[in-house]
Amino acid sequence: MKPVLTSLAALALAVAAQAQPQLPGPNFPAFHTAGDIKTSCDASLKGARQRVALLEKRKVDGGWLAAYDDLTVYLEDHQGPTDFVLNVHPDKAVRDAAQECSLRWADFGSSLGQNEKLYRALQKAPKKDGIDAEFVRLASGQFEDSGVALPKPKRQRAKQILDKLTELDQQFNKNIRDAGTKVVFTEAELKGVPASVWEKAKRDDQGRIVLGVDYPSYVPVMRSAESAEARERMWRAKTNEGGQANLDLLAQIATLRAEYAKLFGYGNYVDFNLRRRMAKDGATATRFLDSVTGAVNEREKAELQELRANKAQHLGTPLEQTTVQRWDASFYSERVKREKFSVDQNAFRPYFPPQASLQFAMHIIEKLMGVKYERIANPLWHDEAQTYVVSDAASGKAIGQLYVDLYPREGKYNHAAVWPLRGSATRIARTPAAALVVNFDRNGLTLDEVETLLHELGHAVHVDLSNTRYAATAGTSVMHDFVEAPSQMLEDWVYDKKVLKLMQEVCAECKPVPDAMVEQATAAKHYGKGGLFGRQHLYASYDLALHQSAKPEPLPLWARMEGATPLGYVPGTMFPAGFAHIAGSYGAGYYGYLWSLVVAMDLRTAFAADKLDPAVGKRYRDGVLAQGAQKPAPELVKDFLGRESNSQAFFDYLKK
Ligand SMILES: [Zn+2]
Repeated sequence: MKPVLTSLAALALAVAAQAQPQLPGPNFPAFHTAGDIKTSCDASLKGARQRVALLEKRKVDGGWLAAYDDLTVYLEDHQGPTDFVLNVHPDKAVRDAAQECSLRWADFGSSLGQNEKLYRALQKAPKKDGIDAEFVRLASGQFEDSGVALPKPKRQRAKQILDKLTELDQQFNKNIRDAGTKVVFTEAELKGVPASVWEKAKRDDQGRIVLGVDYPSYVPVMRSAESAEARERMWRAKTNEGGQANLDLLAQIATLRAEYAKLFGYGNYVDFNLRRRMAKDGATATRFLDSVTGAVNEREKAELQELRANKAQHLGTPLEQTTVQRWDASFYSERVKREKFSVDQNAFRPYFPPQASLQFAMHIIEKLMGVKYERIANPLWHDEAQTYVVSDAASGKAIGQLYVDLYPREGKYNHAAVWPLRGSATRIARTPAAALVVNFDRNGLTLDEVETLLHELGHAVHVDLSNTRYAATAGTSVMHDFVEAPSQMLEDWVYDKKVLKLMQEVCAECKPVPDAMVEQATAAKHYGKGGLFGRQHLYASYDLALHQSAKPEPLPLWARMEGATPLGYVPGTMFPAGFAHIAGSYGAGYYGYLWSLVVAMDLRTAFAADKLDPAVGKRYRDGVLAQGAQKPAPELVKDFLGRESNSQAFFDYLKK
């Protein structure tokens, strides 16, 4: 029996192999139980320690940099999956085990960062060209940031702090993921909210509708519920999601970061953190934010007057007695957009079914950058997660993998993000892999959400089209205040009529979105700029202030800063408790979103004549995306644009 079974199985595999392209690298590892995680964690950590020991003894010759990069590759393949799966696995026990394992890796990582033998070898390693030199420069910076060059007592404290920060950040995210916040509404209270949002939702024993605070529930309630009381309840639940526990964690995180910076002789964490970035220091980042303040404030105030007038008219109250509350902003902003620009974001959903939207976004990349996406049947962490093989269109060669997880579910990461699971390394023909995680409504996407999808796909493309010599400098490992630029650049592709026509090439049965709707949405987007940039400006300023403060107090600082904005602060709310970005890797770096938007808008100028020009797309793919961090970001931008980057396009856009 056995040989027959084997050959049948082999035959089935061969048929499957003919029908679909092969993954150009290994599949994402399967973890079925917490035990799987534990077993793999033990073995992987042991293997990592052995590799470090071998590398310490290795002769420092022309092959040393490659051997050092092999360690990065090992970590990507063994640590990476655990760090990712804790965000998406459907089984809580597996997520918890992965989180525990992730802490052990963090301990390993902070020790590695302080490994003097490897640091010294890195300084001595022969470099054959500029790519090697940049690799050494970046890797040395990572060792130095981990405290390798500090005197011993300070070095030990640095490691303690790094380990503690990882633990606190994880706890912060876990508190949000596992909060399971629910808000109940009667049907009457949800008047105005599309039935598709709530009709299939659970009911409590009194027949009331139970909604989570995930985006597909939260956003439509905030935008369309007629009842201010219902909106207020939803808004408060979302704003307080992380709770007091997370405020305490954030205070600890900021305090530890300040102490960390002092170990290195820096007055605050911002200056420490920015010294290897485009902005270089806190003063430059602050000057940049200040340069945006004036233009944004004026717009925000003007928009608010319009919201107020709309609310007065809607409720029939005298204008002078009408105030706009935080939970009114989305609702009246939608109303103004509907009345002034005839735009209803929900009206876009029928034109953008989630799966077709994903294919549409991929098709844009195909046209622009000369690649091809093919979906294959492949088992992943959840039945609905999808696998794509990315190939180079000209050569037909498979060059990368993309995993996509589209819909919300209990315990899943609740924002939109891309994980760079594997970096490219031409020296060993290693192909990259990225995972794109979003939380879309199954009924379709608004145009805003199509923009989000394209933004995230932009990160995945940066990973998948990377063609660097070393895995350590692949794709998105660029400077932190540049990493958003390639994604932000693509956002406004969705407002281009020629681009939108591509939807029918991937979905024949999808009706073309009317030109007028897109024109109106574009006008409405300009209208909403004050509120949008005002908020981003507040987040960025708050993050810098928190990390420049000698005694960080997250809530009082937030209450003061949000209190100074036109909509003010609402007592009893605690937005920073859910501000996971700054608890994690965006801490003292949130300004990077606005900073890289300036770069993104400058990059767009090259595509002004035609957003699908394959010649410019190819130049961009080869000159920027493929290079990863092999060259410093400002150089990549300069080479692509043929001049120094400037903020002209950004300020023109703000004024429009
Ligand atoms: Zn992003």
